[in-house]
Amino acid sequence: MPTLVMKFGGTSVANIDRIARAAKRVGLEVAKGYDVIVIVSAMSGKTNELVGWVDETSPLYDAREYDAVVSSGENVTAGLMALRLQEMDIPARSWQGWQVPLKTNSAHGAARIEEIPTENINRKFAEGMKVAVVAGFQGISPEGRITTLGRGGSDTTAVAFAAAFGAERCDIYTDVDGVYTTDPRICDKARKLDKIAFEEMLELASLGAKVLQTRSVELAMRYKVRLRVLSSFEEPSDTAGTLVCDEEDIMESNAVAGVAYSREEAKVTLLAVADRPGIAAAIFGPLAEAGVNVDMIVQNIAEDGRTDMTFSCPVNEWIRAEKAVKEAAASGAISFQDLVVDHDVAKVSVVGIGMRSHAGVAAQMFRALATEGINIKVITTSEIKISVLIDRKYMELAVQALHDAFDLDKAA
Ligand code: ASP
Ligand code: MG
Repeated sequence: MPTLVMKFGGTSVANIDRIARAAKRVGLEVAKGYDVIVIVSAMSGKTNELVGWVDETSPLYDAREYDAVVSSGENVTAGLMALRLQEMDIPARSWQGWQVPLKTNSAHGAARIEEIPTENINRKFAEGMKVAVVAGFQGISPEGRITTLGRGGSDTTAVAFAAAFGAERCDIYTDVDGVYTTDPRICDKARKLDKIAFEEMLELASLGAKVLQTRSVELAMRYKVRLRVLSSFEEPSDTAGTLVCDEEDIMESNAVAGVAYSREEAKVTLLAVADRPGIAAAIFGPLAEAGVNVDMIVQNIAEDGRTDMTFSCPVNEWIRAEKAVKEAAASGAISFQDLVVDHDVAKVSVVGIGMRSHAGVAAQMFRALATEGINIKVITTSEIKISVLIDRKYMELAVQALHDAFDLDKAA
């Protein structure tokens, strides 16, 4: 039998009624002849509530017990989903992570999946079970403790199961009907994409389009798992949602697939840093140790042995960043004349594999921003992405202008 993985996010299993609706969709796939592995999230809001209880009980909590508590929301929905399917006369049972067992490392709170043996579940399929309902987000460490995969981790559970079982597809049911060219809340011309390449999705996911956990897209790309992102609130159809797939499966694409943004950024500049070997390491080493997620980095041309070094980071990390570089200066590891922080910046990026073969995307992007009078503060590029840092107050305008400039409201 071909296998299908269906993952239901928190809003799709938010109450008994919605679990029943999700189960109905599972029934449709079973009727088509699939063995189905259903991965469930906790009911929406549940994991946050559990995290809150842990914080309230023990501010400096033992990460193993944190995982024991916060993984429990998924156990409830897995059992309820199995019960609902049984009520529909579909042979189904639930599995917690450790029962599979989904083996992870011991990094509690952000564990990595090491192995998913398929024997136990396959034996049940061979005996006539039609649906394995698996609690997402959780696994078991080599020490035999319960682990969790990090927030949003049930997407990653789903993709890992699809890879392990060689599933035909991994359907991710969520509350949006697919992946859009940009955020529809910011740009009313945003268009749902029929298909998007793994690499593009990866850039969009890590740039703040919160549809899928970034790790799940990385995993899907590595194992070539075809992902479909779709809404559990729409009528079932074969063309629903967005297919995230290999770029070879996309015949024609625009140079730019989408515009992403990240609103809460800060820009930090160290003025007149000594320009000598090892200086960048001496700055960014302490920043990394302080847990600052440095994103863009620009070093200016040196003059008289001095240069300016600029970097960006999430705005809620700039205090930590400032402390780290000041401590490095106090210890004599680095020296600089002044430190300038700009808290009110945002990052806007255009992403597309088509950039590899289309020239002039950067020029077109900069022209569109110039036409709106938006000043660019920092630019970075990769093979399939161009990002700029701009004043936060122009972020919406920039997203809209770029969406227009690249005709993203029209399909390729
Ligand atoms: N319930 C977990 C969370 O809220 C995992 C998930 O839903 O993906 O982060
Ligand atoms: Mg999610």
